[in-house]
Amino acid sequence: MIIGHQKQWQLLKKSKEKGKLSHAYLFSGEEKLGKKTLAVEFVKFLNCLDSGKIKPCNNCKNCLDIEKRIYPDFVIIEPVFLQNEKNKNKKNSLNSSKSIGIKQIKDLILKLSLRSFSSLYKIAIIDDAHLMTYEAQNCFLKFLEEPKGDAILILITSYPEMLLPTVLSRVEKINFFPVEKKEIEKYIFSKKQFNNTEEIFLIAKGKPGTVIDLLNSPDAYSNYKKTISELENIINSDISFRFNYLKKLIEENSNFLLKISEILNIWLNYFRYELLLRLNIKEKENNKILQKYSLSKIIKIINLIQSTNFLISTTNVNPKLAIELLLIEI
Ligand SMILES: [Zn+2]
Repeated sequence: MIIGHQKQWQLLKKSKEKGKLSHAYLFSGEEKLGKKTLAVEFVKFLNCLDSGKIKPCNNCKNCLDIEKRIYPDFVIIEPVFLQNEKNKNKKNSLNSSKSIGIKQIKDLILKLSLRSFSSLYKIAIIDDAHLMTYEAQNCFLKFLEEPKGDAILILITSYPEMLLPTVLSRVEKINFFPVEKKEIEKYIFSKKQFNNTEEIFLIAKGKPGTVIDLLNSPDAYSNYKKTISELENIINSDISFRFNYLKKLIEENSNFLLKISEILNIWLNYFRYELLLRLNIKEKENNKILQKYSLSKIIKIINLIQSTNFLISTTNVNPKLAIELLLIEI
């Protein structure tokens, strides 16, 4: 189900109706906006067997197989932990990050070059496309230069600037933005879950993926509340408290990188929301905890959280050091 993003959806549908589909699209925008969901719906739309007007029908064999990810002409490529001697013997995942390697791209190109099973479209989604290694992007570029007739690629990313300019110039860009409140409310009501609606909306800030997480898991909701209250403690504490918080976090989480990335996204939302309040975009409320910060300080923290999260999830920078630097600034 697509929540919001009707402009992007109509644009894609029209390009099919007019016979002007691109060989490669780039869906870019923040995490949890629903880029991949829309991409999968588009794959169904292109392959749906129903003759009715509303496509995808979500009922025919193709739609169902695509939903189950078993449709033979549809591939999703995602980042994996690449075998790396340096990381092999590490006890935890402090220094290992995921990538999309050249082998994954070579296998994909081979698949796309074979005849399609269904005689419709062959489609590949490359999720977190910015995590393609340099070699993988170059290999991918060769394919973009000579696309095959019935193959369509959808690259998904929150960091388009990490893709090679030569890749960027060969894809049709479609940007995604936070979804309007009324669209999210419609979804929440359709699920018949009326508890904490207003609060879920405030937390999610236009991100349907976050709404779905919060509705599906009471744990996600309490986890969010816990993370915010910890952040507020950090803001009001000295440096040794802050470093202790980090030390405990590393000890308690076997997948520290994943955990910290989740935490940083929540922090980012928290400060961004304050920024919106200060800029008077939202109705005035008072966050007493953030009162001591100037507007420029809030903006500085937002940028720092963003760059820290980006560095630890895409490079081999020491995550502990990076978070310590951030904790000093907050
Ligand atoms: Zn269908």
